[in-house]
Formats: sequence, C-alpha cells, structure tokens
Amino acid sequence: LEKELLSYRELASETRDGHHVALRGNVELPDEIPLVLAQGAEGIGLFRSEFLFLNRRIPPGEQEQFEVYKDILEKMAPNPVTIRTLDVGGDKFVPEINLADEANPAMGLRAIRFSLKERRLFHIQLRAILRASAFGPARIMFPMISGVAELRACRECLEKARAELAAEGVAFAAELPVGIMIETPSAALVADMLAQEADFFSIGTNDLIQYCLAVDRGNEHVAYLYEPMHPGILRALRMICQAARDKGIPVAMCGEMAGDPLYLLVLLGLGIDELSMNAPGIPRVKRVLRQVTREDGEQLLARLSSLPTAQDVSRLLEEEMGKRF
Ligand code: PEP
Ligand code: MG
Repeated sequence: LEKELLSYRELASETRDGHHVALRGNVELPDEIPLVLAQGAEGIGLFRSEFLFLNRRIPPGEQEQFEVYKDILEKMAPNPVTIRTLDVGGDKFVPEINLADEANPAMGLRAIRFSLKERRLFHIQLRAILRASAFGPARIMFPMISGVAELRACRECLEKARAELAAEGVAFAAELPVGIMIETPSAALVADMLAQEADFFSIGTNDLIQYCLAVDRGNEHVAYLYEPMHPGILRALRMICQAARDKGIPVAMCGEMAGDPLYLLVLLGLGIDELSMNAPGIPRVKRVLRQVTREDGEQLLARLSSLPTAQDVSRLLEEEMGKRF
C-alpha cells in the first residue's frame, strides 16, 4: 500500500465523477515545505505562524517574518499559501508573549483577541504578510473569529497596513483573499453573516469540536466526549457549509478531521472545497477521494443526519466505509 500511495502524487485530486477537492498541507515550520511538495499538495491551507514566535525572547520583526512568508510563497508557487495570523493562548503556550495567567485560557485572550489587543504586533505581522503577497498567491486568515465585528476590526487593521505600505511605495498584491477560521460556536451560528464579509471559510474542527461540545481538546478525563461525529457537530458543519454555498464563497477544512479518510465522504457530502492536513495524510485521502462520487457523500450524509448519538453515526459510518475500503 505504501508504494501504491506514492503513485497518487501525480494524480488529480478529484472524485470519480470529476469533482475537484484541493488537498493542501498544514505547516508549522518552513522546513516542512519539502515534505509538503513531495506529497503533491496543492499549496498550503494552513500556515500556523505562531511557530515563528516560539522559543525566543523577542518576537520576530517585520523583515524576518516577511522573509519567511516570501520564501514559503516562492517555494509553493503557483499554488496558494494561506497564512494564519498569530494564534497564541489556549493550548498554544508561548511563554514570552502570554500576558497573564488566566483561569480559563481556552476562553481567554487567545488568537485574534490577542492580536486585536496587541495592535503593534498585529500591524507588524500584517505588513509582513502584505509585503510577501507581492511574491506569490498568498491568502490571509484570522483565527478564532467569533463574529462579524471582529472580522471588521481585522479588515480595518489590514486596510491601515495597506495604506501605510502604499504611501511608502512598497509593493503588495492587489488582491489578497481574506478568510476566517470557523472554530467557535458563535461563528457557526452567524456563518451566513460572516460569509457576506469573508472571502473564504476554513473550518477548524479541533477547536470547533472543543467549543461546541464544551470538551477541552487536551483533557484526557473528558477525551471520551470529544466526538467528531456528534450530531451537534454534523449540524454545525451543515450550517457553515450551507452559508458558504449560499453566498458563493469557498469553504475549506483544516482541523484534524480533514485528514482522516474515514470522514471524507461526509465532507464531500457537505460540499467542502478544500482539505488541509498534515502532508503525509494527503495520498491516503486522495486514494479514497478518487474512488467515490459526490453523490455517494450526499447520500451517506443524509442517512447519518437523522441519527441521535455520536455512537450511532460512527457505527454506520464505519460500516459504510469498511464495506468500500
Ligand atoms: C483547529 O482548531 O482545528 C485548527 C486547525 O487550528 P489549531 O489546531 O491550530 O487550533
Ligand atoms: Mg484552532
């Protein structure tokens, strides 16, 4: 099977009925790029920029960040790279820049909340991303958005950085798609409103499941409750994808669920356009993708949607996938 999987590198990532789903890589550090390229990824769907901030006393400056982003964009061209702005806090502990101890860090000052508070750091990162966008098809993505007001605040910051660079005569791409992670319950509930103002969605199932089910993603005592196939999660995913489809924006998924072939038919049924995962998972997902049709996914999703427990959903899903693969 390993040898067979290698052969998938060159094959199109599409279903048997010709429906294309972009398979992209999740990247934490620039030295993972060769692996991503070797697996035949169609670009990077999630560059977790917080890893540039780890293990150092002073955060990386604009020039240093610019060089890293530019390098990644050039290596991945002509495929796109989605750069996610800093996501610290919660389970992502960066000792140097965590402001204070919090009793409930997952619900505290993390991700975009931190960036919107520490405007100086945010501004530097936005300038670096904009400057890099002159060198390849970049996309920017904001983490942990909980509603439209936050997205607007982010866009304002981006405009400010743009205006400043323009005044300085520094080059940046005319078009930079602005996307958001959908990973809080409120973002799922107002997905229709967010879809009106975002250029794309990327569903972060790691956090979405944690927050929807109120189950700490890293807590072993409640790990048994961390159920990706909980009917509540399926409903949230449907809402998000429906909203994106109604407004005509693409919807990606970059949480762990995206890289597990078990869920592929479900994601196909939901109409997800792009799956971003740890690079070694790409051939496995592509192998399954090429054997199914979108209609298979829609039919299976319809059957799963009426089941009342995660156990029921998982049992039917495993049975169906087991029959096929
Ligand atoms: C997620 O929450 O699913 C996600 C992709 O982001 P992270 O795991 O970095 O929080
Ligand atoms: Mg997340």
